Amino acid sequence: MENIWNKYSQSKLKKMESFCDEYKDFLSQCKTERECINFFSNVAEKNGYINLEKALKENKKLKAGDKVYAVNMGKAMLLMVIGSEPMIKGLNIIGSHIDSPRLDLKATPIYENNELCLLDTHYYGGIKKYQWTALPLAIHGTVVKKDGTKINIVYGEDENDAVVGITDLLPHLEKSKEKLEIKGEDLNILVGSIPDKTAEKDKVKANIIKILQNKNIDEGDLFSAELEIVPSGKARDFGLDKSMIMGYGQDDRVCAFTSFMALMEVDKPKTTALCLLVDKEEIGSVGATAMNSKFYENSIAEIMNLCGQYDELSMRRALNKSKMLSSDVTAAFDPNYPTPMNEKTDAHLARGISFNKYTGSRGKSEANDANPEFIAKLRNVLDENKVFYQATEMGKVDAGGGGTIAYIMAGYGMEVIDSGVPLLNMHAPWEISCKVDVYESYLCYRAFYKL
Ligand code: MN
Ligand code: MN
Repeated sequence: MENIWNKYSQSKLKKMESFCDEYKDFLSQCKTERECINFFSNVAEKNGYINLEKALKENKKLKAGDKVYAVNMGKAMLLMVIGSEPMIKGLNIIGSHIDSPRLDLKATPIYENNELCLLDTHYYGGIKKYQWTALPLAIHGTVVKKDGTKINIVYGEDENDAVVGITDLLPHLEKSKEKLEIKGEDLNILVGSIPDKTAEKDKVKANIIKILQNKNIDEGDLFSAELEIVPSGKARDFGLDKSMIMGYGQDDRVCAFTSFMALMEVDKPKTTALCLLVDKEEIGSVGATAMNSKFYENSIAEIMNLCGQYDELSMRRALNKSKMLSSDVTAAFDPNYPTPMNEKTDAHLARGISFNKYTGSRGKSEANDANPEFIAKLRNVLDENKVFYQATEMGKVDAGGGGTIAYIMAGYGMEVIDSGVPLLNMHAPWEISCKVDVYESYLCYRAFYKL
Protein backbone atom coordinates (compact mmCIF):
# COMPACT_ATOMS: atom_id res chain seq x y z
CA MET A 1 0.00 0.00 0.00
CA GLU A 2 1.28 3.39 -0.89
CA ASN A 3 1.83 6.57 1.08
CA ILE A 4 -0.47 9.12 -0.52
CA TRP A 5 1.79 12.06 0.22
CA ASN A 6 4.08 10.72 -2.55
CA LYS A 7 1.21 10.71 -5.01
CA TYR A 8 -0.34 14.17 -4.81
CA SER A 9 0.38 16.86 -7.38
CA GLN A 10 0.84 20.49 -6.26
CA SER A 11 -2.65 21.38 -7.42
CA LYS A 12 -4.23 18.41 -5.63
CA LEU A 13 -2.32 19.33 -2.45
CA LYS A 14 -3.78 22.83 -2.67
CA LYS A 15 -7.34 21.58 -3.09
CA MET A 16 -6.83 19.11 -0.24
CA GLU A 17 -5.51 21.83 2.11
CA SER A 18 -8.41 24.14 1.41
CA PHE A 19 -10.91 21.30 1.97
CA CYS A 20 -9.19 20.52 5.29
CA ASP A 21 -9.37 24.20 6.33
CA GLU A 22 -13.16 24.04 5.90
CA TYR A 23 -13.21 20.78 7.83
CA LYS A 24 -11.24 22.29 10.73
CA ASP A 25 -13.63 25.27 10.90
CA PHE A 26 -16.57 22.86 11.00
CA LEU A 27 -14.99 20.83 13.83
CA SER A 28 -14.25 24.00 15.82
CA GLN A 29 -17.81 25.28 15.44
CA CYS A 30 -19.78 22.07 15.77
CA LYS A 31 -19.20 20.16 18.99
CA THR A 32 -22.73 18.87 19.62
CA GLU A 33 -25.33 17.10 17.49
CA ARG A 34 -27.53 20.21 17.41
CA GLU A 35 -24.63 22.41 16.32
CA CYS A 36 -23.82 19.95 13.51
CA ILE A 37 -27.45 19.83 12.32
CA ASN A 38 -27.69 23.64 12.34
CA PHE A 39 -24.53 23.85 10.25
CA PHE A 40 -25.64 21.18 7.76
CA SER A 41 -29.19 22.60 7.46
CA ASN A 42 -27.86 26.08 6.72
CA VAL A 43 -25.44 24.87 4.05
CA ALA A 44 -28.12 22.62 2.52
CA GLU A 45 -30.62 25.52 2.35
CA LYS A 46 -28.00 27.65 0.59
CA ASN A 47 -27.52 24.83 -1.91
CA GLY A 48 -31.21 24.70 -2.79
CA TYR A 49 -32.35 21.86 -0.52
CA ILE A 50 -36.04 22.01 0.47
CA ASN A 51 -37.14 21.22 4.03
CA LEU A 52 -39.36 18.12 3.92
CA GLU A 53 -41.75 19.57 6.51
CA LYS A 54 -42.28 22.62 4.31
CA ALA A 55 -42.75 20.45 1.21
CA LEU A 56 -45.38 18.39 3.08
CA LYS A 57 -47.23 21.49 4.27
CA GLU A 58 -47.40 22.84 0.74
CA ASN A 59 -48.06 19.35 -0.68
CA LYS A 60 -45.25 20.12 -3.11
CA LYS A 61 -44.71 17.54 -5.83
CA LEU A 62 -41.09 16.40 -6.00
CA LYS A 63 -39.31 15.24 -9.15
CA ALA A 64 -35.95 14.01 -10.40
CA GLY A 65 -33.17 16.48 -9.57
CA ASP A 66 -34.96 17.93 -6.52
CA LYS A 67 -33.01 18.20 -3.29
CA VAL A 68 -34.71 17.69 0.04
CA TYR A 69 -33.74 17.35 3.70
CA ALA A 70 -35.48 16.36 6.92
CA VAL A 71 -34.39 17.08 10.48
CA ASN A 72 -35.20 14.80 13.40
CA MET A 73 -35.57 16.65 16.72
CA GLY A 74 -32.70 18.95 15.86
CA LYS A 75 -30.18 16.15 16.36
CA ALA A 76 -30.23 13.95 13.27
CA MET A 77 -31.13 14.39 9.62
CA LEU A 78 -31.30 12.94 6.17
CA LEU A 79 -30.65 14.66 2.87
CA MET A 80 -31.68 13.35 -0.52
CA VAL A 81 -31.11 14.23 -4.16
CA ILE A 82 -33.81 12.54 -6.23
CA GLY A 83 -32.49 10.49 -9.13
CA SER A 84 -33.85 10.11 -12.65
CA GLU A 85 -34.29 6.35 -12.12
CA PRO A 86 -37.28 5.36 -9.96
CA MET A 87 -36.35 4.75 -6.32
CA ILE A 88 -37.61 1.20 -6.55
CA LYS A 89 -34.28 0.45 -8.23
CA GLY A 90 -32.44 1.33 -5.01
CA LEU A 91 -30.66 4.30 -3.46
CA ASN A 92 -26.99 5.11 -2.93
CA ILE A 93 -26.75 5.75 0.80
CA ILE A 94 -23.92 7.05 3.00
CA GLY A 95 -24.57 7.07 6.73
CA SER A 96 -22.42 8.43 9.52
CA HIS A 97 -22.96 9.63 13.07
CA ILE A 98 -22.60 13.08 14.57
CA ASP A 99 -22.62 12.22 18.28
CA SER A 100 -19.25 11.97 20.03
CA PRO A 101 -18.03 10.81 23.45
CA ARG A 102 -18.30 13.54 26.08
CA LEU A 103 -19.63 14.34 29.56
CA ASP A 104 -23.32 15.23 29.94
CA LEU A 105 -24.56 17.27 32.89
CA LYS A 106 -26.92 15.40 35.20
CA ALA A 107 -30.49 16.69 35.55
CA THR A 108 -29.78 18.34 38.93
CA PRO A 109 -26.08 19.01 38.55
CA ILE A 110 -25.15 21.93 40.81
CA TYR A 111 -23.73 21.31 44.29
CA GLU A 112 -21.28 22.78 46.75
CA ASN A 113 -18.51 20.97 48.59
CA ASN A 114 -15.97 22.67 50.86
CA GLU A 115 -16.83 26.09 49.47
CA LEU A 116 -16.33 25.04 45.86
CA CYS A 117 -19.19 24.79 43.39
CA LEU A 118 -19.23 21.77 41.09
CA LEU A 119 -21.44 20.22 38.40
CA ASP A 120 -22.28 16.51 38.43
CA THR A 121 -21.89 14.68 35.10
CA HIS A 122 -22.74 11.33 33.55
CA TYR A 123 -20.35 10.47 30.75
CA TYR A 124 -21.64 9.63 27.25
CA GLY A 125 -20.03 6.94 25.11
CA GLY A 126 -16.75 5.11 25.60
CA ILE A 127 -14.27 7.39 27.34
CA LYS A 128 -11.03 6.79 29.24
CA LYS A 129 -11.99 8.82 32.31
CA TYR A 130 -8.50 9.97 33.29
CA GLN A 131 -8.17 11.75 29.93
CA TRP A 132 -10.84 14.27 30.95
CA THR A 133 -9.08 15.70 34.01
CA ALA A 134 -6.84 18.78 34.03
CA LEU A 135 -8.12 19.93 30.64
CA PRO A 136 -9.83 23.19 29.65
CA LEU A 137 -13.47 22.25 29.04
CA ALA A 138 -16.43 24.14 27.56
CA ILE A 139 -20.20 23.87 28.04
CA HIS A 140 -22.33 23.53 24.87
CA GLY A 141 -26.03 22.90 24.70
CA THR A 142 -29.61 24.01 25.07
CA VAL A 143 -31.80 24.90 28.04
CA VAL A 144 -35.56 24.90 27.49
CA LYS A 145 -37.72 27.04 29.77
CA LYS A 146 -41.19 25.88 30.85
CA ASP A 147 -42.78 28.23 28.28
CA GLY A 148 -40.77 26.59 25.50
CA THR A 149 -38.16 29.34 25.17
CA LYS A 150 -34.82 27.87 24.13
CA ILE A 151 -31.53 29.24 25.41
CA ASN A 152 -28.54 28.05 23.43
CA ILE A 153 -25.28 27.97 25.33
CA VAL A 154 -21.68 27.94 24.17
CA TYR A 155 -19.45 28.82 27.09
CA GLY A 156 -15.70 28.34 27.23
CA GLU A 157 -14.74 28.83 23.58
CA ASP A 158 -14.51 32.62 23.21
CA GLU A 159 -11.27 34.05 24.58
CA ASN A 160 -13.30 36.38 26.81
CA ASP A 161 -15.05 33.37 28.39
CA ALA A 162 -13.51 31.39 31.22
CA VAL A 163 -13.08 27.65 30.82
CA VAL A 164 -14.21 24.98 33.29
CA GLY A 165 -12.76 21.58 34.07
CA ILE A 166 -12.13 18.55 36.26
CA THR A 167 -9.27 18.62 38.74
CA ASP A 168 -6.68 15.86 39.14
CA LEU A 169 -4.70 14.75 42.20
CA LEU A 170 -1.12 15.98 42.52
CA PRO A 171 1.49 13.21 42.06
CA HIS A 172 2.99 13.96 45.48
CA LEU A 173 -0.06 12.49 47.20
CA GLU A 174 -0.43 9.53 44.90
CA LYS A 175 2.89 8.00 45.96
CA SER A 176 1.71 6.70 49.31
CA LYS A 177 -1.42 4.96 48.04
CA GLU A 178 -2.37 2.70 45.20
CA LYS A 179 -2.56 4.59 41.95
CA LEU A 180 -5.67 6.75 41.79
CA GLU A 181 -8.42 5.50 39.54
CA ILE A 182 -10.82 8.16 38.22
CA LYS A 183 -14.38 6.82 38.52
CA GLY A 184 -17.52 7.99 36.72
CA GLU A 185 -18.73 9.81 39.82
CA ASP A 186 -15.40 11.66 40.06
CA LEU A 187 -16.01 13.52 36.79
CA ASN A 188 -17.24 16.69 38.49
CA ILE A 189 -16.82 20.04 36.79
CA LEU A 190 -15.41 22.80 38.99
CA VAL A 191 -17.23 26.06 38.21
CA GLY A 192 -16.84 28.48 41.12
CA SER A 193 -15.29 29.57 44.42
CA ILE A 194 -16.76 33.02 45.28
CA PRO A 195 -19.42 33.01 48.04
CA ASP A 196 -22.61 35.07 47.85
CA LYS A 197 -22.42 36.91 51.19
CA THR A 198 -26.19 37.35 51.36
CA ALA A 199 -26.97 33.64 51.07
CA GLU A 200 -27.72 31.59 54.18
CA LYS A 201 -25.99 28.37 53.16
CA ASP A 202 -24.13 26.92 50.16
CA LYS A 203 -22.97 30.45 49.47
CA VAL A 204 -20.69 29.57 46.53
CA LYS A 205 -23.45 27.60 44.84
CA ALA A 206 -25.82 30.53 45.49
CA ASN A 207 -23.44 32.81 43.63
CA ILE A 208 -23.25 30.49 40.62
CA ILE A 209 -27.07 30.28 40.56
CA LYS A 210 -27.17 34.09 40.49
CA ILE A 211 -24.82 34.06 37.48
CA LEU A 212 -27.13 31.59 35.71
CA GLN A 213 -30.19 33.70 36.61
CA ASN A 214 -28.54 36.65 34.90
CA LYS A 215 -28.71 34.51 31.74
CA ASN A 216 -32.41 33.75 32.44
CA ILE A 217 -31.64 30.19 33.64
CA ASP A 218 -33.10 28.95 36.95
CA GLU A 219 -31.68 25.92 38.74
CA GLY A 220 -34.83 23.92 37.87
CA ASP A 221 -34.41 24.69 34.17
CA LEU A 222 -31.37 22.40 34.10
CA PHE A 223 -33.76 19.44 34.23
CA SER A 224 -35.10 20.43 30.79
CA ALA A 225 -31.65 20.97 29.34
CA GLU A 226 -29.14 19.15 27.19
CA LEU A 227 -25.75 20.41 28.28
CA GLU A 228 -22.61 18.71 27.01
CA ILE A 229 -19.14 19.21 28.44
CA VAL A 230 -16.59 19.07 25.65
CA PRO A 231 -12.91 20.00 25.24
CA SER A 232 -12.46 23.76 24.81
CA GLY A 233 -10.55 25.04 21.80
CA LYS A 234 -10.28 24.83 18.06
CA ALA A 235 -9.26 22.02 15.76
CA ARG A 236 -5.80 22.69 14.39
CA ASP A 237 -2.93 21.32 12.37
CA PHE A 238 -0.88 18.63 14.08
CA GLY A 239 2.79 17.74 13.51
CA LEU A 240 5.85 19.78 12.57
CA ASP A 241 4.98 19.07 8.94
CA LYS A 242 1.31 20.03 9.54
CA SER A 243 0.25 16.78 7.89
CA MET A 244 -2.42 15.90 10.45
CA ILE A 245 -5.44 17.46 12.16
CA MET A 246 -6.10 17.40 15.90
CA GLY A 247 -9.67 18.09 16.88
CA TYR A 248 -12.50 17.01 19.17
CA GLY A 249 -15.25 14.73 17.83
CA GLN A 250 -13.63 13.49 14.61
CA ASP A 251 -15.36 10.17 15.41
CA ASP A 252 -17.51 10.48 13.46
CA ARG A 253 -17.86 14.07 12.32
CA VAL A 254 -15.05 13.49 9.84
CA CYS A 255 -17.25 11.04 7.91
CA ALA A 256 -20.33 13.23 8.42
CA PHE A 257 -18.59 16.30 7.01
CA THR A 258 -16.95 14.51 4.07
CA SER A 259 -20.10 12.63 3.03
CA PHE A 260 -22.23 15.77 3.42
CA MET A 261 -19.80 17.82 1.29
CA ALA A 262 -19.78 15.04 -1.31
CA LEU A 263 -23.60 15.13 -1.44
CA MET A 264 -23.57 18.90 -1.95
CA GLU A 265 -21.88 18.24 -5.30
CA VAL A 266 -24.47 15.71 -6.45
CA ASP A 267 -26.59 17.21 -9.21
CA LYS A 268 -29.23 15.41 -11.28
CA PRO A 269 -28.01 11.90 -10.43
CA LYS A 270 -29.29 8.75 -12.08
CA THR A 271 -29.60 6.89 -8.78
CA THR A 272 -31.17 8.72 -5.84
CA ALA A 273 -28.44 9.86 -3.42
CA LEU A 274 -29.12 9.77 0.32
CA CYS A 275 -26.96 11.06 3.18
CA LEU A 276 -27.83 10.00 6.74
CA LEU A 277 -26.44 11.90 9.72
CA VAL A 278 -27.47 10.04 12.85
CA ASP A 279 -27.27 10.48 16.61
CA LYS A 280 -26.69 8.04 19.52
CA GLU A 281 -24.29 5.68 17.71
CA GLU A 282 -21.88 5.89 20.62
CA ILE A 283 -24.47 4.49 23.02
CA GLY A 284 -25.79 1.67 20.86
CA SER A 285 -27.94 3.36 18.18
CA VAL A 286 -31.03 3.40 20.39
CA GLY A 287 -33.62 6.15 20.85
CA ALA A 288 -35.67 8.48 18.67
CA THR A 289 -32.72 10.17 16.96
CA ALA A 290 -30.59 7.04 16.40
CA MET A 291 -30.15 4.88 13.29
CA ASN A 292 -32.69 2.46 14.79
CA SER A 293 -35.39 5.16 14.74
CA LYS A 294 -38.23 4.89 12.24
CA PHE A 295 -37.57 8.53 11.32
CA TYR A 296 -35.42 7.56 8.31
CA GLU A 297 -37.86 5.03 6.91
CA ASN A 298 -40.78 7.43 7.50
CA SER A 299 -39.00 10.33 5.80
CA ILE A 300 -38.07 8.18 2.79
CA ALA A 301 -41.74 7.10 2.56
CA GLU A 302 -42.88 10.74 2.68
CA ILE A 303 -40.41 11.75 -0.05
CA MET A 304 -41.38 8.79 -2.24
CA ASN A 305 -44.99 9.82 -1.75
CA LEU A 306 -44.33 13.42 -2.85
CA CYS A 307 -42.57 11.93 -5.90
CA GLY A 308 -45.65 9.82 -6.69
CA GLN A 309 -43.57 6.69 -6.15
CA TYR A 310 -44.87 5.47 -2.80
CA ASP A 311 -46.56 2.30 -1.81
CA GLU A 312 -45.42 -0.03 0.97
CA LEU A 313 -44.00 -2.66 -1.37
CA SER A 314 -42.16 -0.09 -3.52
CA MET A 315 -40.49 1.32 -0.43
CA ARG A 316 -39.42 -2.13 0.76
CA ARG A 317 -38.00 -2.81 -2.70
CA ALA A 318 -36.20 0.55 -2.76
CA LEU A 319 -34.48 -0.16 0.56
CA ASN A 320 -33.77 -3.75 -0.38
CA LYS A 321 -32.05 -2.73 -3.63
CA SER A 322 -29.98 0.04 -2.02
CA LYS A 323 -26.23 0.20 -1.54
CA MET A 324 -24.70 1.76 1.52
CA LEU A 325 -21.41 2.95 2.91
CA SER A 326 -21.68 2.86 6.67
CA SER A 327 -19.07 5.50 7.18
CA ASP A 328 -17.35 5.56 10.51
CA VAL A 329 -13.79 5.98 11.70
CA THR A 330 -11.42 3.11 12.34
CA ALA A 331 -8.21 2.77 14.37
CA ALA A 332 -4.96 3.73 12.65
CA PHE A 333 -1.93 1.63 13.53
CA ASP A 334 -0.11 3.33 16.41
CA PRO A 335 3.62 2.50 16.81
CA ASN A 336 3.31 3.57 20.45
CA TYR A 337 0.82 0.78 21.19
CA PRO A 338 1.60 -2.15 18.87
CA THR A 339 0.45 -4.94 21.22
CA PRO A 340 -3.32 -5.04 20.51
CA MET A 341 -2.82 -4.06 16.89
CA ASN A 342 -1.71 -5.87 13.76
CA GLU A 343 0.50 -3.73 11.56
CA LYS A 344 -0.13 -5.96 8.53
CA THR A 345 -3.92 -5.70 8.57
CA ASP A 346 -4.72 -2.51 10.47
CA ALA A 347 -5.31 0.83 8.80
CA HIS A 348 -2.40 3.26 8.51
CA LEU A 349 -2.43 7.03 8.29
CA ALA A 350 -1.85 8.46 4.81
CA ARG A 351 -3.06 5.36 2.97
CA GLY A 352 -6.53 6.65 2.23
CA ILE A 353 -10.07 5.75 3.22
CA SER A 354 -10.30 2.48 5.00
CA PHE A 355 -12.78 -0.33 4.27
CA ASN A 356 -13.58 -2.88 6.94
CA LYS A 357 -15.33 -5.83 5.29
CA TYR A 358 -16.56 -6.67 8.77
CA THR A 359 -16.18 -5.24 12.25
CA GLY A 360 -17.23 -6.97 15.46
CA SER A 361 -15.21 -8.99 17.94
CA ARG A 362 -14.89 -12.62 19.12
CA GLY A 363 -15.18 -14.23 15.71
CA LYS A 364 -16.86 -11.33 13.88
CA SER A 365 -19.65 -11.31 16.48
CA GLU A 366 -22.38 -8.76 15.68
CA ALA A 367 -20.63 -7.69 12.49
CA ASN A 368 -22.11 -6.89 9.12
CA ASP A 369 -19.94 -8.91 6.71
CA ALA A 370 -19.98 -7.18 3.32
CA ASN A 371 -20.58 -9.25 0.18
CA PRO A 372 -17.73 -9.73 -2.33
CA GLU A 373 -20.06 -8.84 -5.22
CA PHE A 374 -20.63 -5.40 -3.70
CA ILE A 375 -16.95 -4.94 -2.80
CA ALA A 376 -15.99 -5.74 -6.40
CA LYS A 377 -18.28 -2.96 -7.67
CA LEU A 378 -16.76 -0.56 -5.18
CA ARG A 379 -13.19 -1.47 -6.16
CA ASN A 380 -14.10 -0.73 -9.73
CA VAL A 381 -15.57 2.71 -9.04
CA LEU A 382 -12.76 3.65 -6.64
CA ASP A 383 -10.07 2.69 -9.16
CA GLU A 384 -11.87 4.47 -11.99
CA ASN A 385 -11.99 7.63 -9.90
CA LYS A 386 -8.39 7.21 -8.65
CA VAL A 387 -9.40 7.12 -4.98
CA PHE A 388 -6.77 5.82 -2.54
CA TYR A 389 -8.19 3.22 -0.19
CA GLN A 390 -7.07 0.44 2.14
CA ALA A 391 -8.72 -2.86 3.10
CA THR A 392 -8.35 -3.18 6.84
CA GLU A 393 -9.38 -4.67 10.17
CA MET A 394 -9.41 -3.03 13.58
CA GLY A 395 -6.80 -4.54 15.90
CA LYS A 396 -5.67 -8.13 16.41
CA VAL A 397 -8.19 -10.98 16.27
CA ASP A 398 -9.83 -11.25 19.71
CA ALA A 399 -8.10 -8.05 20.88
CA GLY A 400 -11.37 -6.12 20.97
CA GLY A 401 -13.53 -4.55 18.30
CA GLY A 402 -16.42 -2.18 17.90
CA GLY A 403 -19.79 -1.75 16.29
CA THR A 404 -21.22 0.70 13.78
CA ILE A 405 -24.64 1.39 12.23
CA ALA A 406 -23.91 -1.04 9.34
CA TYR A 407 -25.91 -4.00 10.67
CA ILE A 408 -29.06 -1.92 11.14
CA MET A 409 -29.31 -0.89 7.49
CA ALA A 410 -28.12 -4.33 6.37
CA GLY A 411 -31.30 -5.56 8.06
CA TYR A 412 -33.30 -4.12 5.14
CA GLY A 413 -31.45 -6.52 2.88
CA MET A 414 -29.29 -3.85 1.24
CA GLU A 415 -25.58 -4.09 0.47
CA VAL A 416 -23.55 -2.41 3.23
CA ILE A 417 -19.86 -2.03 3.99
CA ASP A 418 -18.02 -0.17 6.74
CA SER A 419 -15.74 2.56 5.51
CA GLY A 420 -14.11 5.60 7.03
CA VAL A 421 -11.14 7.62 8.10
CA PRO A 422 -8.39 6.04 10.24
CA LEU A 423 -7.75 7.93 13.49
CA LEU A 424 -5.12 8.01 16.20
CA ASN A 425 -6.35 8.82 19.74
CA MET A 426 -9.86 7.62 18.88
CA HIS A 427 -12.37 8.56 21.61
CA ALA A 428 -9.79 10.77 23.38
CA PRO A 429 -10.70 14.45 23.92
CA TRP A 430 -8.39 15.33 21.02
CA GLU A 431 -8.38 12.89 18.10
CA ILE A 432 -5.91 12.86 15.19
CA SER A 433 -6.62 12.35 11.51
CA CYS A 434 -4.32 12.65 8.51
CA LYS A 435 -5.27 15.35 6.00
CA VAL A 436 -4.92 13.20 2.89
CA ASP A 437 -7.18 10.52 4.40
CA VAL A 438 -9.87 13.13 5.11
CA TYR A 439 -9.66 14.32 1.51
CA GLU A 440 -9.64 10.79 0.05
CA SER A 441 -12.80 9.99 2.03
CA TYR A 442 -14.52 12.96 0.46
CA LEU A 443 -13.35 11.82 -2.99
CA CYS A 444 -14.54 8.28 -2.25
CA TYR A 445 -18.00 9.47 -1.20
CA ARG A 446 -18.24 11.68 -4.29
CA ALA A 447 -17.41 8.67 -6.48
CA PHE A 448 -19.85 6.41 -4.59
CA TYR A 449 -22.77 8.75 -5.26
CA LYS A 450 -22.11 8.25 -8.98
CA LEU A 451 -22.35 4.45 -8.61
MN1 MN B 1 -17.86 6.10 15.30
MN1 MN C 1 -16.96 5.88 18.45
